[in-house]
Amino acid sequence: MTVQEQYELLEKTVRGYNPAADFDHIRAAFDYANRCHEGQKRKSGEPYIIHPLAVAQIVAEELKLDSESIEAALLHDVIEDTPATHEDVAHLFSPTIADLVEGVSKLTRIQYATKEDEQMENLRKMLIAMSKDIRVILIKISDRLHNMRTMEYQSPEKQKQKSLETMEIYAPISHRLGMQRMKWELEDLSLKYLDPVGYEEIITRLDVKRPEYDAFLSRTQDQIRARLDELGIQHMVYGRIKHPYSIYRKMFSQNKSLDEIFDLFAFRVLVDTMGDCYNVLGVIHDIYKPIPGRFKDYIGTEKPNGYQSLHTTVMGPDGLPFEVQIRTWKMHEVAEYGVAAHWKYKQNGQGSGTEGRYEWVRRLLENQEGADAEEYIHSLKVDMFADEVFVFTPNGDVQNLPAKATPIDFAYAIHSAVGNRMVGAKVNNRIVPLDHVLKNGDIVEILTSKSAKGPSRDWVKIAKSSEARSKIRQWFKKEKKEENIANGRSSFEQELRHSGLTMRDVTENLALLLKKVSYGTLDEMYAAIGYGGFTAQKAVSRMRGELQRIARQHQEAAESLQRTEEPPVPQPRPVKSEQGIIVEGLDNCLVKFSRCCTPVPGDEIVGFITRGYGVSVHRADCPNAAPERRAGQEGRWLKVTWGSDTNESYPTTIEVVSKDRMNLILDISTALSSTNTFVSGLNSRSTEDGFAVIRLEIRVRDGVQMKTIMNKLNQISGVLRVTRPAG
Ligand code: MN
Repeated sequence: MTVQEQYELLEKTVRGYNPAADFDHIRAAFDYANRCHEGQKRKSGEPYIIHPLAVAQIVAEELKLDSESIEAALLHDVIEDTPATHEDVAHLFSPTIADLVEGVSKLTRIQYATKEDEQMENLRKMLIAMSKDIRVILIKISDRLHNMRTMEYQSPEKQKQKSLETMEIYAPISHRLGMQRMKWELEDLSLKYLDPVGYEEIITRLDVKRPEYDAFLSRTQDQIRARLDELGIQHMVYGRIKHPYSIYRKMFSQNKSLDEIFDLFAFRVLVDTMGDCYNVLGVIHDIYKPIPGRFKDYIGTEKPNGYQSLHTTVMGPDGLPFEVQIRTWKMHEVAEYGVAAHWKYKQNGQGSGTEGRYEWVRRLLENQEGADAEEYIHSLKVDMFADEVFVFTPNGDVQNLPAKATPIDFAYAIHSAVGNRMVGAKVNNRIVPLDHVLKNGDIVEILTSKSAKGPSRDWVKIAKSSEARSKIRQWFKKEKKEENIANGRSSFEQELRHSGLTMRDVTENLALLLKKVSYGTLDEMYAAIGYGGFTAQKAVSRMRGELQRIARQHQEAAESLQRTEEPPVPQPRPVKSEQGIIVEGLDNCLVKFSRCCTPVPGDEIVGFITRGYGVSVHRADCPNAAPERRAGQEGRWLKVTWGSDTNESYPTTIEVVSKDRMNLILDISTALSSTNTFVSGLNSRSTEDGFAVIRLEIRVRDGVQMKTIMNKLNQISGVLRVTRPAG
């Protein structure tokens, strides 16, 4: 067939299903492609234009597409393989046709490598998503079909590689789009190159058995036809041997020889109405014995891709089982040509129960209601993946992200550690900002650094995927938690020292103390303190209470032990004290009482190691012992306690603020002498606004006596305030 004859066949085919097609434009596209490819040859030695012509023929014959698709098929290689540009095609034909051609070229440029199933599925989706217009993928499949039909001229490596790609990408997409006939042919052609031996074996065996099989096919066909004619059911019946790849798969998966394959034959009965389908089924089950469990009603429950048919497997008279498929002509067209058939039939989107992954096909099909082929085709934008974008990792894996995703989404989709260490990103080898919007087919590379500071707060706003956003939030929560624990620990430890307790006191009674503060672990408590949900003061005061209770318990236990046991346990060595003070960890050290706060027995006290003067004892609430004063010299503060052998008396100071009046000093002296208080000094000054501040240097035994004295002073008429100065 000459090129001219082939072109005429194309026109004739198009005219057959679409007399209104734009033949002027189709002719122009052919002429332009012919000129562009002039001088180029296929591997077979034929002029290159044979290929685009053949692809257009497939698009017309198999898919019955519109004029634009035929033109685009004729032009599909001009942008990729000739000097023609998108602008040229857009100018000469139309921007839509230029987009279709450009779309096919883009799909051609994608590099494939065999991957695990999930990756292949993503790759298929990416292809469909990149197509934008469903016609792009349909032309691409037609292109692939013709290339597979003429694969014999390619090198063995190329044959294998293209066949694998076809098997993993294009055949499944054809299936997904409901184009069974093209799917079979693609599979058989691929098998031929992927397992030539297995393929040949099947073809050879089928050839050998052909006369036998053909006889069986026509005998059975006649039987069915005769019975249906008898009953006056309009029909067409034909039988076929299943296609080689389907037999191959059965042999392979069931490890059976060709003779053992259960149903090698399939008969098809086409009728006018759905009612007839069920009538024919009854007839078939009457003639042949149905095999239980093999009946499937895809009319009552159609397949997600729109497929409708009745399937049953029966046993033939010669003991050969075979499958019978019964459907209407309309259902048949849909089964054979899938999406393309729907354009022709304007299927009213009936049928519900569309399952998830085929949902987009359904949407696509429903859209065409009431539209003419030429009109409808324009709305066939591939929007089923409008909310997704598919991009490549540098090693060719496909990442599936939400539409408008950024490198941030990509990084966190790879791994949260990649996201947390991201310092930049490259798209198609160019550095891009982190809010760069990714497009289908982009190759994305994330630049990371071990010293990265981690995500920034803005990233949560930039990221489009909930996965990335939650991983970023997690990072902040976790980081903050560590920060909280650190802060909480430090204020707790400060408070602990302030109250004269040590970490050892805490750890030795940890379980009881944690119970007292109602936290599972110290870190949890620290985190709460750091976060502000709990205070170090409360923690320490509750712990101190608990420690005192524990100490009392121990003491009581020891005492009761002493009482009950005959030989008294030896008394623990009395702790040596200096002036009634026990300094933790230090025996016989020089102790002096600070002048600033003058503690007396009963006061909570702390010790400070002075430079050269021993340990100076402060009241715990003395400003000079306050945490801020301790900064930098925490190590010099010690836990000190009052011993049981305190001194006779301790010097201390009391300050009285009173309204200035006659006999005030006399009244104070009386109060002091009535409590047997030794006074070593008294200093009084009057303020300008009529008050008197009296400072008393006295000696007391302990806090109890102190309290009594202060109460007494407080009762004196005119006295406003009695305090123990400190600091
Ligand atoms: Mn091509």
